[in-house]
Amino acid sequence: MLIRRFTLTKALLVATIVLAVDGPAAAGGSGEPVPGYGGRATAAGAAAPPIGGLPPPPPVALPLPSERLAQPILLSDCPGLRIVEWRPSKDFSYTAPSDEGQKVIAKACKTAFARYPEFLRSKNMQFRKEAFSVSVSMIPANNIGDGKDPRNMNDVDGRMRVTQPNCCSWGIFDAPLSFLFLRNDPINFSAGKNVPNKYFVRTFLHELAHIFNSKWHVKEVYFPYTMSADEELAEDWIEYLGIKYKTESSSEDWTWKKNQ
Ligand SMILES: [Zn+2]
Repeated sequence: MLIRRFTLTKALLVATIVLAVDGPAAAGGSGEPVPGYGGRATAAGAAAPPIGGLPPPPPVALPLPSERLAQPILLSDCPGLRIVEWRPSKDFSYTAPSDEGQKVIAKACKTAFARYPEFLRSKNMQFRKEAFSVSVSMIPANNIGDGKDPRNMNDVDGRMRVTQPNCCSWGIFDAPLSFLFLRNDPINFSAGKNVPNKYFVRTFLHELAHIFNSKWHVKEVYFPYTMSADEELAEDWIEYLGIKYKTESSSEDWTWKKNQ
């Protein structure tokens, strides 16, 4: 239903997803996870047209200078991506910036950059690969455990309201802002040690598909290209990689974390 609120072009602007649907069903009413389409009133994210020559207000979802890392994190296996914010969940110190977490991200990136072209070719889809720049905010995303505190991923009534009007997502790629909002837990804690979080990896790989589809012009080649088609392609990509497990719910994630 949301998609009808916008023109087709605007509907294509924000690719979101990977849901932790525990609260109200984001859409569809089936109770099953569904794509959390991010409706955007304007392409600049809450930025109204200039009035009286004044510049538009900044997109509210972007991190403030005080929220940004002192130095962005650049990863050699993730050309074009830079982590500009990484805020841990208050109860889990292992969700803070770490070398272990960066390695998980870099490994997933390496896989995606190496294999996404072959995936598109396997589907006889055309694309035009080129360099891009995407900033990444890694923020608390579990709407149960982290709550809807200001500027958490599911702060649907607050600063995330433009990018993320409907709870609940683990990741959102905002194409107009060239910005990825992503869960903060590449590392989980299990049996007394830090381990890669396979659910984070799934989320991240899924979001990378949205990024590639946008930046490598897949959408233009296949115009008109719907958000549901983009979502389907991202999930086909996950299947192509042999990932069998589904996205976990917020309650599953929270139950698992608090029992460690
Ligand atoms: Zn998606």
